[in-house]
Amino acid sequence: MGNYKEKRQLMVEEQIFMRNVRDEKVLHAMAKVPREEFVPDELKPYSYEDRPLPIPGGQTISQPYIVAYMVEALALRGGEKVLEIGTGSGYAAAVLAEIAAEIYAIERIGQLANFAKKNLLKTGYKNVHIKHADGTNGWQEKGPFDAILVSAGAPTIPKSLLRQLKIGGKMVIPVGSNRLAQELVRIIRKSDDDYIREDLADVRFVPLIGKYGWNNEEQKLKHIQPEFSKKHMNNY
Ligand code: SAM
Repeated sequence: MGNYKEKRQLMVEEQIFMRNVRDEKVLHAMAKVPREEFVPDELKPYSYEDRPLPIPGGQTISQPYIVAYMVEALALRGGEKVLEIGTGSGYAAAVLAEIAAEIYAIERIGQLANFAKKNLLKTGYKNVHIKHADGTNGWQEKGPFDAILVSAGAPTIPKSLLRQLKIGGKMVIPVGSNRLAQELVRIIRKSDDDYIREDLADVRFVPLIGKYGWNNEEQKLKHIQPEFSKKHMNNY
């Protein structure tokens, strides 16, 4: 169980580099953030497996590869101000914090906002600022942002988030009319009213619930473990 550093290095080589994530900053960040510190204690032995894992509140810490893939798609150079919606365990925020300057992270479940705070405190990430709120509103007072990462699946792209993106900024977000299957999309803001949309991959995230997301009621159905799409998994 013990040698997490070695397992982490293997994770980077076998799950991430082998699937063509090549941005050095991202590979370095993934090799540095201790994923075992972002999962419940009993799941630590599984923390470097190639899959999402359950965290409190019926949510998930995403598969390492999808975190690396999404962060790479933001093309961060260092020094940016980034907004993350759907902080969960705080793991993706920590990966972002290794590259960018300041991370503003929003989580709608209070128990998870506290879980993320605790995990980021013990791992020493001081440049992540966490808010317990509905992230579909964004974080207007702290914007505009160089990059926005949405870690839950939205029915449509919230306009509030589009407006909080700097010109030239990028947003990566899973979007789709099915609550549990989405297209991962990258938006680049070209001017005040001009955005480019690129479809990147088929993915499966837990739903983004909130004013400009899904409504909460249907969420009570049942808990289904999301996974990265088969299409993408086959992309070795
Ligand atoms: N990035 C997380 C990590 O590294 O552990 C995993 C995110 S998990 C796949 C999606 C998260 O989005 C859940 O924790 C869920 O509670 C949160 N979420 C859903 N709707 C939200 C909203 N409107 N605002 C903020 N967080 C939301």
